[in-house]
Amino acid sequence: MARGLTRGFLGLGSNLGDRRANLQSAVTGLEAAGVGVLGSSSVYETAPVGLVLDQPAFLNACVEVETELTAFELLDLCKQVEAALGRDFSAVRHGPRPIDIDILLFGSETLESDRLVVPHPALCERRFVLVPLLELEPAAALPDGSALSEALTALGDDDGVVLAGSSLIFRPCPRSSSP
Ligand code: AMP
Repeated sequence: MARGLTRGFLGLGSNLGDRRANLQSAVTGLEAAGVGVLGSSSVYETAPVGLVLDQPAFLNACVEVETELTAFELLDLCKQVEAALGRDFSAVRHGPRPIDIDILLFGSETLESDRLVVPHPALCERRFVLVPLLELEPAAALPDGSALSEALTALGDDDGVVLAGSSLIFRPCPRSSSP
């Protein structure tokens, strides 16, 4: 039996090469593989956070997608798109990269496996993810219903995420009737 469509949100990041072109190519690569892109946030610039601070600033954006793939199949596709854009999977984790694609939310699914955790485990701790996500979907919530706007408020004020460009371009894709 065919699976239904699931809507989800992906976080995109790039801090090597032509960063905006890399974000755009990720969108195009997902679409070429049959994933519907329903919307894109603006592009934001973010100073590096986490384990490797001595690296170029990131551009980040968030896109809403709709797909028949399972979450695991979507993860595999994200890895393929990252590889096609030159991601070196042997490089240091959290280090510089031409593209990073994270599954932030996938319908109302919660998953916890070695390969995939959904909602993304760092979603509520990262302003550079929450700011574009909430621009795109102000009502975004965790599967338990808690509003992500509250998670952003809890992080407090910080000027580390700066608007840096317009939305990424996507092929208009009619929304299916059910979320
Ligand atoms: P990254 O360094 O962001 O490319 O992620 C490294 C690994 O995290 C990936 O190879 C995935 O197996 C794993 N991972 C776990 N949960 C997620 C998620 N929600 N989205 C993307 N990758 C994830």
